[in-house]
Amino acid sequence: MKSLSTDVVVIGGGSTGVGVVRDVAMRGYRTILVDRVDLAQGTSGRFHGLLHSGGRYVVSDPRSATECAEENTILTRIQANAIETTGGYFVATHVDDPAWGDTWAKGATDTKVPFEEVRVADVLKAEPRINPKISRAFKVLDGSVDGWQLVWGAARSAMAYGGQVLTYHRVTKIEREGDRVGAVICTDDKTGEEVRIECHFVINCAAAWGGQIAAMAGCHDVQVVPGAGIMIAMNHRLVNSVVNRLVYPADGDIIVPVHTVSIIGTTDHKAADVDRLGISREEVQQMLDCGELLVPGFRESRALHAWAGARPLVKDSRVSAEDTRHMSRGMSIIDHAERDGLKGLLTIAGGKLTTYRLMAQHVVDEMCAQLGETRPCRTAEEACPGAEDGTTYVITHRLHEREEDRLDDQILCECELMSRRMFVKALADQPRGSFDDLRRQLRLGMGPCQGGFCSTRATGVALETGHIDIERATGLLRLFLANRWIGLWPILYGDQVRQTALDNWIFAGTLDIEHLPADQG
Ligand SMILES: Cc1cc2nc3c(=O)[nH]c(=O)nc-3n(C[C@H](O)[C@H](O)[C@H](O)COP(=O)(O)OP(=O)(O)OC[C@H]3O[C@@H](n4cnc5c(N)ncnc54)[C@H](O)[C@@H]3O)c2cc1C
Repeated sequence: MKSLSTDVVVIGGGSTGVGVVRDVAMRGYRTILVDRVDLAQGTSGRFHGLLHSGGRYVVSDPRSATECAEENTILTRIQANAIETTGGYFVATHVDDPAWGDTWAKGATDTKVPFEEVRVADVLKAEPRINPKISRAFKVLDGSVDGWQLVWGAARSAMAYGGQVLTYHRVTKIEREGDRVGAVICTDDKTGEEVRIECHFVINCAAAWGGQIAAMAGCHDVQVVPGAGIMIAMNHRLVNSVVNRLVYPADGDIIVPVHTVSIIGTTDHKAADVDRLGISREEVQQMLDCGELLVPGFRESRALHAWAGARPLVKDSRVSAEDTRHMSRGMSIIDHAERDGLKGLLTIAGGKLTTYRLMAQHVVDEMCAQLGETRPCRTAEEACPGAEDGTTYVITHRLHEREEDRLDDQILCECELMSRRMFVKALADQPRGSFDDLRRQLRLGMGPCQGGFCSTRATGVALETGHIDIERATGLLRLFLANRWIGLWPILYGDQVRQTALDNWIFAGTLDIEHLPADQG
């Protein structure tokens, strides 16, 4: 068994975990983050892509609304390269009560969420595709956020402060030393090796899996209710800014423009198994109907991909355990010293990706208080690597970058303008990574062809670089296509069936993909 030693182990590499490891490292502690898979492969990579202005919660969850508004400003400053400042609208469609706008506006004023009531004619000019029958509109500071860029930015910042990040390290046990936490035991799933990390403190950021981690330390049942929701990416930017329905939060009431696509979402129901989130035909139809209400003709554009994520909602005694839409979106910290008599373990869950930095600040403040130390939080003051110049991204940023320094470089993915140099560098940085790990950072295969053309090119280049052998190359390609398929089959209708059939002919017909060797380690 391999042995490591540190001050603080952070479990979970989603937005909360990387926020915590960054904060802990910046306060001068030795720290190691472990995740059972790649960073942001949990809910932080399976969300809607909205940098909340707070507008969504001004009536239903006022505290979250204010937190979102404040964190929106901070994140736009410290993680500018992960954010597109699209702005957003709340619009009353012809089936919504325009008078509800008064309740909403009062909520926004009370919660200090910046907004402005705007003329319908001006909204229709800015958003020519949206429902011309809207009767009222408010402008807000919603934005679009790339969860993978945000998570990797915070992780790189932690590493710059000496923090370690161990992906594919699955926690299997938490050892106690008397009434304190003593060590975390993990399995390195890439090598099979057991790793023991001796530590003084553990912060459990495993979100929807947080209850499993607490149980590994012998704590009483921690009830994190997974509130599952689906999202669908359509193949165009149907809107230029985030478009929300001016209603109490409901299913399918937001369209977010993210890079080259627009995402409609979401639903909300209690998931039976957080590792197997299904996408039903009914939910897909419901989302398309909702899209149609905001953007007439929505169904005529091509649905590219569907996915589901689970909100880590801490059980709230005010509502039934089945009713996840109305559970608090606020953050919860569980002090296991007080609750279970185990010192040195805190669990944090809830919140939103938009409020991840604040969640980290609260839990690390609590850790410092328990250790009897005063070390102030500085995460709001310093930009993460890559965001130092404060420039937020725009839809055409890859085109600009290509014109600046990559005109001589081969394009591997036309949809997302991903070049050979970008791919080779990412592969060298993450030699044990799968093509999906690289996809999350480069957007390989995320555009309209869904990997139909670029994935074979990328496989060839990976082989050429000498980083991997032929068996691993074809194994990774098979795994990549199998994973893409999970998000394709629920939306197979219309033009997407034609695209999928074409891809299938390429892979099965010309490559006989099913019979290629498959080392996916
Ligand atoms: C459908 C949906 C849409 C959403 N849309 C938005 C939005 O638009 N904007 C917004 O701000 N928020 C949104 N949210 C909320 C937001 O996505 C989450 O609050 C946030 O991503 C949670 O991050 P996290 O780090 O707490 O959890 P996660 O990202 O799930 O991280 C938990 C990590 O723990 C790891 N883990 C689990 N078990 C183990 C183990 N045994 N050992 C090691 N690691 C382990 C997992 O692999 C995972 O990476 C949405 C949520 C959902 C479900």
